[in-house]
Amino acid sequence: MSFDYDLFVIGGGSGGVRAARVAAQAGARVALAEESRYGGTCVIRGCVPKKLMVFASEYPGAMADAQAYGWTVHAGGFDWSAFHGKLEAELDRLEGVYRGILSGNNVTTFDARATLADAHTIELSTGERLSARHVLVAAGGHPVRPDIPGAELGIVSDDIFKLDALPRSILIVGGGYIACEFACILNGLGVQVTQYYRGAQILRGFDGEARGLVADEMIRSGVDLHLGTNVLGMARAEGGVRVTPTHGEEKVFGAVMFATGRVPNTAGMGLEAAGVELGRNGEIVVDDYSQSTVPSIYAIGDVTDRVNLTPVAIREGMAFVETVIKGNPTPVDHALIPTAIFTQPEMGTVGLSEEEARDQEPVEVYAASFKPMQQSFAGRDDRVLMKLIVSRETRKVLGCHIVAPGAGEMIQLAGIAVKMGATKEDFDHTVAVHPTMSEEIVTMSAPVRTG
Ligand code: NDP
Repeated sequence: MSFDYDLFVIGGGSGGVRAARVAAQAGARVALAEESRYGGTCVIRGCVPKKLMVFASEYPGAMADAQAYGWTVHAGGFDWSAFHGKLEAELDRLEGVYRGILSGNNVTTFDARATLADAHTIELSTGERLSARHVLVAAGGHPVRPDIPGAELGIVSDDIFKLDALPRSILIVGGGYIACEFACILNGLGVQVTQYYRGAQILRGFDGEARGLVADEMIRSGVDLHLGTNVLGMARAEGGVRVTPTHGEEKVFGAVMFATGRVPNTAGMGLEAAGVELGRNGEIVVDDYSQSTVPSIYAIGDVTDRVNLTPVAIREGMAFVETVIKGNPTPVDHALIPTAIFTQPEMGTVGLSEEEARDQEPVEVYAASFKPMQQSFAGRDDRVLMKLIVSRETRKVLGCHIVAPGAGEMIQLAGIAVKMGATKEDFDHTVAVHPTMSEEIVTMSAPVRTG
């Protein structure tokens, strides 16, 4: 049977574009459809604009520190529209880069929504029908609002990047990556930030001591964090949105942002009719090779709800091409993925939390929490944390957790050692780089706890 294409990719985000490019470079005839903007969540409404907002939000602190270091600084206010204009231009540029990658590698693109008519047939919103030997669904996910009265009055992370003006005050609901990152960003940009999280501590699933320090520092820098608190309902009010919390008084906020999780973009795509099994969250169920229950249909990235991170989607895309296009079966390695949460201070983490490790085997815990030189000199009370979880039996470092400015950069490098199976003694044998914060990671001589 002949097909129009060897591979049809649905979704032009990081994972889909990478898979399409590498498959085309390997000689496959490839097409890709994107219904929105090329670059997907990461480039257009996620990691990239978020990180630029993190940078913008850190300047007030930097200016205060500069004064403490003897500089005369005359800071004005933050001009959201000036920043926003530059941000839009940068996203346009990046979208152009993504389109260029595809056209430069002879990938045929369709600016249209694609759905499946059957295991090998793609139907476009333009009415066109195309066939492909393999289909790769890389359609991503989208944020969801909780099912409460008035939820439609709240915004989600996608909307933050499109605001005409920053609100004077905002309530952020949730305690995950997105909620905590935006609480810090908006706080830094001068918005009065309140955060409600329904659980006992933000960043559930991460190391307890590390997330405790992030929470303490967020509160100290001005985020009004309420734990064990959720929203019962919302209504329009003068000056914004009136919120009824699970406990405490009703309050009016300039805006309410829900960061209460994301769901895969699988609705209305014809997947189930084509025989593709979906999981409880609507995710495409795949095996280690990203193959769905229909042999010709594969899926990568957030649409599979495995580890929802851009570099993981890219890895999954590369492994798919290696397996399906190059005929070299390559499973995706999801073990020991380093990750960073761009709160202020940042948290970088790889491997097991202390709690997970203790459940698994006897461990030693090495930790140092201290005031870093740069901020301490400026008169700030900020604290940082360097922490290693070590197996008592194998001496391997099972987990590394860093809460500090630049922790994202640090954990990338520590992640190599942990991924290689480095022992505590390998860390100890490495000479410290002095004076740095991260030198503590190789100079902690005695465990603070064993268990
Ligand atoms: P998360 O799943 O991380 O967090 C969702 C949060 O919302 C949790 O705190 C959850 O509480 C809470 N929540 C869920 N439902 C409700 C509800 N009905 N009412 C109140 N609270 C609720 O999702 P995010 O949206 O923050 O991020 C999605 C994913 O995107 C992340 O898991 C991550 O993989 C990725 N991401 C990565 C970033 C990075 O690498 N720096 C940055 C941003 C996103 P509970 O804990 O009780 O379940």
